[in-house]
Amino acid sequence: MALVNSKKMFEQAYKNGYAIGAFNVNNMEIVQGITEACKEENAPVILQVSKGARAYANHTYLVKLVEAAVIECPDIPVVLHLDHGPDFETCKSCIDGGFTSVMIDYSSHPLEENIEETAKVVEYAHKYNVTVEGELGTLAGIEDEVSHAVGSYTRPEDVEKFVKGTGVDSLAIAIGTSHGAYKFKPEQCTRNAQGILVPPALRFDILKEVSKRLPNFPIVLHGSSSVPQNYVKMINENGGKMPNAIGVPEEQLREAAKLSVCKINIDSDLRLAMTGTIRQFFNEHPDKFDPREYLKPARANIKELVRHKLRDVLGCAGKADECK
Ligand SMILES: [Zn+2]
Repeated sequence: MALVNSKKMFEQAYKNGYAIGAFNVNNMEIVQGITEACKEENAPVILQVSKGARAYANHTYLVKLVEAAVIECPDIPVVLHLDHGPDFETCKSCIDGGFTSVMIDYSSHPLEENIEETAKVVEYAHKYNVTVEGELGTLAGIEDEVSHAVGSYTRPEDVEKFVKGTGVDSLAIAIGTSHGAYKFKPEQCTRNAQGILVPPALRFDILKEVSKRLPNFPIVLHGSSSVPQNYVKMINENGGKMPNAIGVPEEQLREAAKLSVCKINIDSDLRLAMTGTIRQFFNEHPDKFDPREYLKPARANIKELVRHKLRDVLGCAGKADECK
């Protein structure tokens, strides 16, 4: 099937208590690892491209890689989404260039400006059957060009005005997730009996209040990697240096997916799997120099990680057919 927008996926995800995985893509191996996993698990998927990915790989290459994946995986619905569109022009260029969904992130501007710019994107996007994600509240952390030292939680009292005033199809909110592989500072965490850092819980009270004000409306969580400690260890044992890297516990994401959260963004976990695998390969095979030899296991580990997310975290494995 051709690329689709996110409408049907979110309707089904909302109704049936799961979330769609939104995975960031930057090159061929990442696209392949994700979509091969989705194909095997019969899962719907959102492939998302950031401004940084477009700058790195070039818009045309990314669109064509995703189109290739659609040909190779004809039975699963695939959305091509712009992650953190910084302005109307970038969103327009993605809509004109084949994307089926865009995010306009004006969350660091005052509410009225956010509403105005988001509404402008919605008006244009809906003419082309492209769905739009807006954002209220800001996440701490760094993701490509998007960077905030401290975040601010979404104010539930703003959400109805924003959704009514813009016509957006989904809303990203800030409830304590954060971008990058260092989601929480050690001083924000407690330690368990083994001395391992335990991050503060997500603000489910805010999520529930938002959902009460926006019935049947799909919510999005950014910055929702769990920073698997086996890959952090693999990186650190093979010449890397990532002390205290920590993410959002998977059980909390599973819980959010059962509520109104219909899209969960995962990027850092794929980066960690890829980097850990390549570091280990280099360490174990200093004589090798064929990129295929180290990209192949990296791609395989991305695939395994995505399969785990689909089955055990998002709950969208086996849901491809009902999302068509
Ligand atoms: Zn994000």
